[in-house]
Amino acid sequence: MAIHVSEKKKNYRINPLHMAWEQLETTAKFIKLDSGILQKLKYPKRILTVSVPIKMDNGKIQVFKGYRVQHNLDRGPGKGGIRYHPDVDIDEVTALAMWMTWKCAVVNIPYGGAKGGVVCDPTKLSQTELEHITRRYISEIGLIIGPEKDIPAPDVNTNARIMAWIMDTYSMNVGYSVPGIVTGKPLSLGGSRGRAEATGRGVVFVTQEATKYFGIDLTKSKIAIQGFGNVGYNAARIFYDLGCKIVAVSDVQGGIYDPEGLDIPAVYKHSQKNGKVQNFKGTKNISNKQLLEVPCDILIPAAIEGQITEDNANKIKAKLVVEAANGPTTPQADKILDQRGIKVVPDILANAGGVVVSYFEWVQSLQAYFWKEKDVQQRLQEVIVNAFDEVVEVMKKYKKINMRTAAMILALQRVSEAAILRGLYP
Ligand code: GLU
Repeated sequence: MAIHVSEKKKNYRINPLHMAWEQLETTAKFIKLDSGILQKLKYPKRILTVSVPIKMDNGKIQVFKGYRVQHNLDRGPGKGGIRYHPDVDIDEVTALAMWMTWKCAVVNIPYGGAKGGVVCDPTKLSQTELEHITRRYISEIGLIIGPEKDIPAPDVNTNARIMAWIMDTYSMNVGYSVPGIVTGKPLSLGGSRGRAEATGRGVVFVTQEATKYFGIDLTKSKIAIQGFGNVGYNAARIFYDLGCKIVAVSDVQGGIYDPEGLDIPAVYKHSQKNGKVQNFKGTKNISNKQLLEVPCDILIPAAIEGQITEDNANKIKAKLVVEAANGPTTPQADKILDQRGIKVVPDILANAGGVVVSYFEWVQSLQAYFWKEKDVQQRLQEVIVNAFDEVVEVMKKYKKINMRTAAMILALQRVSEAAILRGLYP
């Protein structure tokens, strides 16, 4: 119990917004960004806090708290997921919105950054309660979202089922069907082929590029993946299909490790049946903390923020970290990994596959013209490879900077250029 309390206290120190600010300020110094523009980009354009009252299954009213933050809209409408989690707070949503701004800019898709969240624990809610929360939350933030204003999508604990309720609620409120209001929808409501696995597929594309660039043999590499949700599982499955060796995976309840490599489809079946990956035959149960420290070549944090910290950065054995989650590495840990020569592909590049295919979905929804799966995959690969090459160009130009700083420089240059060109209104 005591350990739990102290771990909690320590985690409490990791404020994602402080991480995002530190990353922004470090990059701004590097490119000598105008201090006025820096101030503009440090704070979000718009924050909406809403109360979400619903009638629970027991007949009682319960009020949940929800947020939608639009960090910057200079390059286009806001884009970013909606998260349902008990730890959601305004600083986290603001940081995630800011990371969306940089992510959309790095891969050069015409969006600004936004994010939403509702403070709730979906494991303790029935489907009916989840539906009521979603519908009321969307009605409340309906003031600031829209297909030309701000387009939500899935994030932690939200999925295509929830996106369908979002599409329906917004459409009912305006009186006609608006498929372009949300991405990550089911195919039958105008979703895109390849969207569900897009973040995972993007992680694989970026890992292929990074291993080539850093001279690591992917086929001989041992991969450890923290998180077995939409991103972690799909990345694991695609790596597995490519013949790669995944030695560890985990979910919220803990992980499993087998140095000989895991049978990912069998682990998936087991986790669907038992509600967790642990206790899979022939493997060793490990904690999420241990997963980050297992012997491996490539470590893929695909869960939540603040996982690689100054406390464990020295224990990481991987040569390459590919950030499939948003904000998994603290700035302090970043410095340690850098000193140790461990390469990090930053989140704003590594996990951009999801929002790239969201962009494809939005375009398809607006045009009511739908693409084949192989076209989606091919265009996703083109966007990711191109962004990777552009980040590498920045690394070469500035010398001695790591990939996060290079990606941030590219993003900040694009966003600040748009902000300066647009000027101030009035
Ligand atoms: N939630 C995802 C992310 O963090 C996807 C956002 C989107 O598709 O708009 O990138």
